[in-house]
Amino acid sequence: MRAARKKNERNAPAILEGARTHREAGAAFGILSLDPLAFDMTATFAPPPPAPEATLRALEEKLAAALPPVLRGCYAASNGGRFGDPRQRDGEWQLYPVFDSSDRKQMKRTAEDVLHYTRLALQDTRFPRDGISIAHDYSMYRQLFVRRDPATGAIAEDILLFDAHTDQWSAPYAADLRAAIDQARIPEAVQPDPARALPEFRYYADPFESGVMRTSGESCQCCGQATGYIYGGSFYAIGDESHFCPWCIADGSAAAKFDGEFNDAAGVGMGDVELPLPIVQEVSQRTPSFFSWQQERWWAHCNDAGRFIGELAHVDRALIASQAGREFVDTLREETHIASDTDWQALLDTPSRERDLAVFVFRCLHCGQLGGYADYS
Ligand SMILES: [Zn+2]
Ligand SMILES: [Zn+2]
Repeated sequence: MRAARKKNERNAPAILEGARTHREAGAAFGILSLDPLAFDMTATFAPPPPAPEATLRALEEKLAAALPPVLRGCYAASNGGRFGDPRQRDGEWQLYPVFDSSDRKQMKRTAEDVLHYTRLALQDTRFPRDGISIAHDYSMYRQLFVRRDPATGAIAEDILLFDAHTDQWSAPYAADLRAAIDQARIPEAVQPDPARALPEFRYYADPFESGVMRTSGESCQCCGQATGYIYGGSFYAIGDESHFCPWCIADGSAAAKFDGEFNDAAGVGMGDVELPLPIVQEVSQRTPSFFSWQQERWWAHCNDAGRFIGELAHVDRALIASQAGREFVDTLREETHIASDTDWQALLDTPSRERDLAVFVFRCLHCGQLGGYADYS
């Protein structure tokens, strides 16, 4: 028995999907979170280019106030981008860009800017009326913002935290934003070794696409090496270690060293099927997890664990349209009571992070059948 069985709650609404473009959420599923910045989880993280001085001045004109130096410093280095949250190891902030009209590409990338997100933030009546939102952590429940002095209209230096999870509406966020951003950059010296092939996971199609694995300068807490990749998904163990390189997951050394598991062994087979022990161990101890709200479960078929394909948003549309896909969709719609085709289409069209329902899809390694389940926030 493992004493500390914890679902890493921080993962919850967070990174269900590597951001694509922002679309309005289908009304049927409710807006959970919104994402401003397109980025590719599988690419080596390259920060966006600096915001040209003219764009900063244009924003200051619209705000009728000067940006505090700490923010100006951020934008002068990079117009938006993501960086680690020094208070939460698995947390990540998305800094909103300043609208940049210098070329079409930048215009498109920065269309959803600080002003756009401040308008959205103000729709929540708990958000301070004089606040200017500057970053979120993939949901509007947690934001960083700055405040205007009500008397002078000037924007104060302090970076503040709005956190609907802990009922903090304007808490000092002491961490220096600039330092936090620098800390998150991958040092040149830690680029992945191109000669070292990434391990294959039999039961997991692509941990980079699902977001649990990412490029990073961080050292593996098992082997101590900075391989250029780090795992940031769940790991159930007594200790706090959970950031491992793909190799230490694949060869079982992380699970053995810290006596933990990535996926709940009891959930392998989803409680319906009892699988041979070596298969259960491979899924629970040598296979990455995926971001979910509830404790993850692993679909099984043909007396074997299925291969995790991803959240519905990451599943090839041709596969969904295939015979196996249609059978899976029919079952799923029945279980989730999505009777109308319009509602189903809305779900397909809504990025996973904007839904309060996630659909995890697996494929049988033997007969090709698709299966999985719906997860609710
Ligand atoms: Zn390692
Ligand atoms: Zn099968």
